[in-house]
Amino acid sequence: MTATPAIEGWFTTGPDPALLGSRCTTCGTAFFPPTSGFCRNPACDGEEFTEVPLGRRGRIWSYTDAQYQPPPPYIAASEPFEPFALAAVELPEGMVVLGQVAAGYGVADLRLGAEAELVVETLYTDDDGTDRLIWRWKPTTELGEEAD
Ligand SMILES: [Zn+2]
Repeated sequence: MTATPAIEGWFTTGPDPALLGSRCTTCGTAFFPPTSGFCRNPACDGEEFTEVPLGRRGRIWSYTDAQYQPPPPYIAASEPFEPFALAAVELPEGMVVLGQVAAGYGVADLRLGAEAELVVETLYTDDDGTDRLIWRWKPTTELGEEAD
């Protein structure tokens, strides 16, 4: 049984998975997805980047129910397509990263500003029996703890 990222070079796997960003060696700005070429900071003319793991926890910036099948790299886990929750999470480095919400969670578990943690789950299993992995956002706050 093997497992490999569905997108090579965008995240690490293991007990503490993290997204991989590119940090400009000139201005120190981190970017995700990993980039190369010219720095996207308009005030910077840097062209060299180092790979850096990004913060594993961020704040939920936006979320939605995906009622339609998203474009690649998302691959339908079910046929016909079943809606699932998507969260956009703001990382400590400042960028917002979209991802599917971890298995077993839905929009009812999400709240703007709440913390979410990066987890890696199986996106699908290919014909060779290899699990293809993708990052997802897992809410870390139990909403039921908050009373009105
Ligand atoms: Zn730069």
